[in-house]
Amino acid sequence: MSNVLFGLFAAVVLVGLVYSGASLLTFTAAVGAAALGFYALGGLGTVGLTIFAVLYVPVAVVLNVPALRRGVLTSPIFKAFSKALPAMSQTEKDALEAGDTWWEAEMFGGKPDWSKLMNVKYTELTADEKSFLENETEELCKMLDDWKITFELKDLPQEVWDFMGKNKFFAMLIAKEHGGLGFSPYAQSCVVAKIATRSLTASVTVMVPNSLGPGELIMHYGTQEQKDYWLPRLVDGREIPCFGLTGPEVGSDASAIPDTGVVVKRNINGKEELGIMLNFSKRYITLAPVATVVGLAFKLKDPQGLLGDASKTDYGITCALLPADTAGVQIGRRHFPGAVFMNGPIIGRDVYIPLSSIIGGREMAGKGWRMLVECLSAGRGISLPALSAASGWGMYLATGAYARIRRQFKLPIGKFEGVQEATGKIGGLTYKLEASRVLTATACAECAPSVVTAMMKYHMTEMMREIILRSMDVHGGRTVILGPRNYLGQAYQAMPVAITVEGANIMTRNLIVFGQGAIRCHPWVLKEMQAAQNPNKAEGLRDFDKAFFGHLGHIFNRAMRALVLGLTGNRLAKSPVSGEMAVYAKALERRSAALAFTADVAMGVLGGELKRRERLSSRLGDVLSHLYMATAVIKYYETNGRNKEELAHAKWAIEDSIAEIDKAFVEFNRNFPVKAIGGLLNFVAFPFGMGKTRGPSDTLNAQVADLMMERNVFAERLLDKVFVGEGSSDPTGRILEAADKLLSIEPGYSNFLKAVSSGKVVGEGLEAQLKDAVAKKLISAELAQGIREYEPIRFDAILTDDFSKDYLRTNGQIPDEIIEAKPVSEYKEAA
Ligand SMILES: Cc1cc2nc3c(=O)[nH]c(=O)nc-3n(C[C@H](O)[C@H](O)[C@H](O)COP(=O)(O)OP(=O)(O)OC[C@H]3O[C@@H](n4cnc5c(N)ncnc54)[C@H](O)[C@@H]3O)c2cc1C
Repeated sequence: MSNVLFGLFAAVVLVGLVYSGASLLTFTAAVGAAALGFYALGGLGTVGLTIFAVLYVPVAVVLNVPALRRGVLTSPIFKAFSKALPAMSQTEKDALEAGDTWWEAEMFGGKPDWSKLMNVKYTELTADEKSFLENETEELCKMLDDWKITFELKDLPQEVWDFMGKNKFFAMLIAKEHGGLGFSPYAQSCVVAKIATRSLTASVTVMVPNSLGPGELIMHYGTQEQKDYWLPRLVDGREIPCFGLTGPEVGSDASAIPDTGVVVKRNINGKEELGIMLNFSKRYITLAPVATVVGLAFKLKDPQGLLGDASKTDYGITCALLPADTAGVQIGRRHFPGAVFMNGPIIGRDVYIPLSSIIGGREMAGKGWRMLVECLSAGRGISLPALSAASGWGMYLATGAYARIRRQFKLPIGKFEGVQEATGKIGGLTYKLEASRVLTATACAECAPSVVTAMMKYHMTEMMREIILRSMDVHGGRTVILGPRNYLGQAYQAMPVAITVEGANIMTRNLIVFGQGAIRCHPWVLKEMQAAQNPNKAEGLRDFDKAFFGHLGHIFNRAMRALVLGLTGNRLAKSPVSGEMAVYAKALERRSAALAFTADVAMGVLGGELKRRERLSSRLGDVLSHLYMATAVIKYYETNGRNKEELAHAKWAIEDSIAEIDKAFVEFNRNFPVKAIGGLLNFVAFPFGMGKTRGPSDTLNAQVADLMMERNVFAERLLDKVFVGEGSSDPTGRILEAADKLLSIEPGYSNFLKAVSSGKVVGEGLEAQLKDAVAKKLISAELAQGIREYEPIRFDAILTDDFSKDYLRTNGQIPDEIIEAKPVSEYKEAA
């Protein structure tokens, strides 16, 4: 064998070893063996081999003998790392360590174990949950008239409040043993979403007691006494809860709340007891105006050491429960957040509460922040994704229907390429939303996935925003004009609420997703940090050594994987499935390896500075989020039986995510402060440039847009989830009924219109034209009858509302006189 051939062979073996993640010992041995091989073939002389041995042997020994390695190499690195590690407050540590990682950690790690995703079993609804959706929830939806609620009442009718309380809508997350419904996250998501398709105000009202708040906090941390007292009262609606964290001075940086509680001694009924004197100012608190019990976050101080530890005066964030009518509490005023769910400020001046009001009792003093961050998953992972998906469901169906029935320039508007750009996007995003909702709700049943839920909070609400905006465009004036016929205007108006709550979106994207994700999902970083913080230095060094060298191997392996997969067109990547999705799974696996390498290089080069470089870190967060969502789509498509009609939706959703991933990589690399490193990262991620993927093609977009105008299998699934009232009793029902009727007379109806426009059919007005077409045998009498029936339904579906001046001026307090609109042809015929 020639030296050149052997060199090639050795290079392939070494690359293969790095690619497959061989141990340091194996790799070192392989390097030694390669040198001996060259020596045997004469490519390396005795002098060469001696020089090599002098360099190689000490390095190999130091690297592979742990005790030696720790003393010579790791110890100085450990010292420098410990020194450079930014000091972290307890609050930051709590936030970082709260919650669990899940499937996203595999995609972050760069070598996903696909079986973990494929083995996930979606949560199924139990018989009780199914029945609750089909009966109580359906019943509630029928009671809701969103226009009346929003414009006339500015509140839910009392009978709706009573119905929700009586039927335990506020107690879905409270366990059955305490009298609650004990529903799974998936079931809660389905209930909230179905209500949202009828009334945003009602869905937010149900959502809040089932998210972060007194119910969840007592369930997780409450003392037995608190559980026994509060839970039954929350379950049957005797108590309406709210939770106050945000105030005028502090929103996103909630850990900096200025509200205080000072431990004091009080004489109550002749007995001395310890209590807390509260002073606070909260705003934007959902349900506050009607709440009877307030969960409150404040900073606990004990200047007199009354809790027994004189050295500890500041306990930090603490959560307590107080009845809304406690002396000194000002509550009841309302904000107006674009929708009319209850929301308002709460002010407390010298409010006294007993020490037993702390959620979880005295031992939980100062542990409030940890409690809050641990419980954030419900709002971020269940309620807000449910709301977002519900917007997608409703808009998919209604916009598809409207695009079909609304005609301009003698064609359904949904056939124009420009409109299809919007409708195709609505269809693809809705598919992505639904796949992400189902997977994430399952994740929330298995654990408290903090990174996934932050990703979903941001991306799902952003997709909802996009869907609502595009749907508005497609509808034109039909959804600009507010009124009972408008099924979109209220969502458009209130959309910023979802963007802002539970971690405002800019902050969530820029600070949390990657900030928390990089540390929590990384196989080694948290271990390195924990080792550096270990007060037992010898133990810390041992742990750090293991983590650090594991980390180095990880970096080389992931760089090699990304590069090799890129150079071989993803052929060596694994796919958990065969068929249409395989090519996407492989493409995602390559990008997962590129993310792992890029994240490590970025952390290594920029260190703590990366946290402040939000523009950069947010892009890596986007990569991780889209990897998660694209894999959620693969899972959803495969689980639902690889239906042909769904394929276009699934492809659109994944190709969109891959385009977003590539855009994020390119922008990250282009803006990396060290240009040469940015170039290297770009080469590893895209050795042949950006490749072919640039998002869904026009053809794919048109396929989804066309499917949206039909009754496809995905649409049928959505129809099972949304509330659809009958015809004109429900704005969405009205438009869907029209589209259904139209589908039943197509393609004959289009042919009839073409015949009218070409002059083959003549006559003044529809009736004359139908008669002429039947007489000329161009259409059947049956079709003519179908068109006759469709026309008034179509006309009704495209109408918007108009009101008397008095009705609008008095916010609906003076009833309106409805004037029925008619097609112009009918006026003409009458004349
Ligand atoms: C309708 C509604 C209902 C609500 N319900 C409740 C409730 O029931 N209980 C409760 O306690 N709170 C509630 N909130 C408060 C909500 O959680 C806060 O509004 C939210 O945390 C943002 O705070 P802020 O509005 O003060 O915005 P700010 O914190 O002032 O933020 C303004 C902007 O700056 C961005 N930003 C801030 N810091 C960073 C950063 N480090 N990096 C990048 N961007 C950053 C934010 O993303 C945002 O875009 C509600 C709010 C609304 C509007």
